[in-house]
Amino acid sequence: MKILVINAGSSSLKFKLFKMQDESCLGFGHIEAIGKESSSVTLELKENILHKHMPVSDHVEALNILFDLLVESGLIVSLDELYAVGHRVVHGGSYFSEACLIDENVLERIGELIPLAPLHNSANISGILAVREHYAQMKQVAVFDTAFHQSIPSYASQYALPRYLYEEENVRRFGFHGTSHAYMLKQASGLLGKSPQKTSIISLHLGNGASICAIQNGKSIDTSMGMTPLEGLVMGSRSGDIDPGIFFYLHRHKGYSVDEIDDMLNQESGLLGVCGENDMRLILQKAKDDPLYRSARDLFVYRIRKYIGAYMAVLERVDAIVFTGGIGKNSAEIRALSLKDLQVFGIVTDTEKNEAGKSSAFSFHDKGSRIKLFAIQTDEELEIALQTKEVLVKSSL
Ligand code: ADP
Repeated sequence: MKILVINAGSSSLKFKLFKMQDESCLGFGHIEAIGKESSSVTLELKENILHKHMPVSDHVEALNILFDLLVESGLIVSLDELYAVGHRVVHGGSYFSEACLIDENVLERIGELIPLAPLHNSANISGILAVREHYAQMKQVAVFDTAFHQSIPSYASQYALPRYLYEEENVRRFGFHGTSHAYMLKQASGLLGKSPQKTSIISLHLGNGASICAIQNGKSIDTSMGMTPLEGLVMGSRSGDIDPGIFFYLHRHKGYSVDEIDDMLNQESGLLGVCGENDMRLILQKAKDDPLYRSARDLFVYRIRKYIGAYMAVLERVDAIVFTGGIGKNSAEIRALSLKDLQVFGIVTDTEKNEAGKSSAFSFHDKGSRIKLFAIQTDEELEIALQTKEVLVKSSL
């Protein structure tokens, strides 16, 4: 059983092909700069990498190239061999609390949510329609970044704004990175030897985008990203939490337009805004002797510590704290600083294990730590493939 996972962006398309019998990845790649002169196609197989520059005018052509590539490289004999295509869909709004088979109704709802994720949802729809254009009967499943967080209770999803905005206008916390946090839950529960339904963790996804999630007995009960992916932790170029009064000040007294403030908060803030750099490896290197980079690192870590403290307070029990994402999985320094001096919470790091850990999943808590500490490589595409399979198995019962 082979499942193709597609993550369509506005001018890119990432893909990964899985053999579901053993959950192995057969090949993956991306088509970049769709609609531009510089478009290119990359397919990575076990033994070799195929990379070529070629014109790719739109998502339909991208899918054409991808399907041809899968056949030419011998990964599939024909499209009939694909059991299904699983799509990453960024915003499922309040409609979707789990992955689902895509039909007209689902497509329409994903379309209705475009104002909440303009770039993402419209690109996701292009990907779905492009597959349909090639192979109308292909079973397609939508896996939403927001779905895992639909279990968040209203006191954590509602903002303290006039009630009608929550009830009628969908102004509320949706949360993102749900596929990654769901994958962390499964992996951590495996390491703890518990069922996911009985596992409570704090999950930190620290990449260019960053979010933290409080998971109680297998359910998300709070997360740092909000109605949009702008809220919460300090990110590569996004500000995370700020006082909304700053918008009015910048607009009324400093002449910034709404679009300029939007660009600033999303693309010119976070680590990049603070020190001019958003590559955490470089920041950590330069932080050794440059106070500018040290201040960016410290802001990043301080916000994480505040959220860990908050989630320790709202969770009934914490079995483990789990780190993932390019920074969370790879940086022993960020993990150490984030968890430093938290003995009062029953959190004690084993410095050697933290620094030595390299495998795809490892623990780094001290023997005396009440709360277990893990660093785990996330695999959002595998989680999408697993959920795609689950939806189809259920729908055929
Ligand atoms: P995205 O959110 O775009 O998927 P990633 O999860 O790949 O991003 O994370 C990218 C970030 O991870 C970058 O800031 C990069 O510098 C950082 N990173 C990767 N490896 C390391 C490392 N060994 N130490 C510190 N940061 C790292």
